[in-house]
Amino acid sequence: MSSTIILLPGDGIGPEVVGAAARVLNAVMAAAGRAITLQTYPIGGAALRTGLPALPPDTLAACRAADAVLLGAVGTPEFDHLPSSERPEGGLLALRRGLGVYANLRPARLWPGFEDSGPLKADIARGADLLIVRELTGGLYFGEPRGLDREGGVAFNTMRYTVHEIERIARVAFDAAQRRRRLVTSVDKANVLETSQLWRSVVTRVGADYPDVALQHMYVDACAMALITSPARFDVVLTENLFGDILSDEAAVISGSIGLLPSASLGDGPGLYEPVHGSAPDIVGQDRANPVGAIASASLLLRHSLGATTEADAIDRAIEAALRAGCRTADLAGPRSALGCGAMTDAILAALA
Ligand code: NAD
Repeated sequence: MSSTIILLPGDGIGPEVVGAAARVLNAVMAAAGRAITLQTYPIGGAALRTGLPALPPDTLAACRAADAVLLGAVGTPEFDHLPSSERPEGGLLALRRGLGVYANLRPARLWPGFEDSGPLKADIARGADLLIVRELTGGLYFGEPRGLDREGGVAFNTMRYTVHEIERIARVAFDAAQRRRRLVTSVDKANVLETSQLWRSVVTRVGADYPDVALQHMYVDACAMALITSPARFDVVLTENLFGDILSDEAAVISGSIGLLPSASLGDGPGLYEPVHGSAPDIVGQDRANPVGAIASASLLLRHSLGATTEADAIDRAIEAALRAGCRTADLAGPRSALGCGAMTDAILAALA
């Protein structure tokens, strides 16, 4: 049976990097004798330019009916003058809502050969390979009541979590840990916040269903320090929305370039996979986009939505081999001796073969 993957190239370098990821997906699945169908739909500025809304109804319907969705990026300066509800970025927010994704997965790892490229000392960064699992639809960003009373000089937000919300995100983290090094670090502020006390007790209860996965709890302030003093001690980091927003960006510095970072957003339906970077309008059309974030997102897609673990491992190994061999796009190498997006993809495909 063929799996259907919707490609949403979007804007800027989105089409370049999604095209690269599609080449890798086709190659790895053909080699495995597994059928996939890739279908391309418009989103963001690419949709607005043809008179459609930023998330056309046909695009959402196709995504909902598919096995998984791979997105490039949305956003382009030509629409920056529009109110935020009419801009390309609104299409991505509507897509996340429409797919009901509540778990955001952001892997951060130090690829071989990058020990000296990032802001961390090599002997601290070496061995770092972690996955942040962030709750995406609850907590302080969505809790009611909320308000800003400028005249009264007061503003307030509500951090709120239900047992159901905590249970489902905890299961995503424990399931992911079972496919990795079997350690979950749950991050909270249980010494101060009642939501964190509930969080800790629910995560502990869910953890009992996963006797093969070790669970440790950590306060968010201690975790923020440990991520940059000893990142290699972490495997899966499970946390709520606000803490995860901050910690995932902090962890991102481990890898050395935004162009290397993949992400997944999961719910009960099809998963949404996208590189962490935006549409990079400053390098559009120059063959300078790094495709690794998108190709690594395709690997996450195979792992989490299609259960194609062997093929996902093969892609990860091919990226690692190409980087280890010294293949670099301009964001990593500087303009000299840099490969373009297509040539970098060729190098990863060659390593795959
Ligand atoms: P950006 O990530 O697009 O670019 C930041 C810097 O990183 C730029 O110098 C860019 O050239 C570089 N860069 C990014 N990805 C790269 C890659 N794969 N290879 C090489 N270099 C890369 O962020 P920005 O400039 O703040 O935003 C540009 C547009 O993208 C805006 O319209 C913004 O709203 C949108 N955006 C979209 C998403 C998304 O679709 N998920 C995320 C962030 C920003």
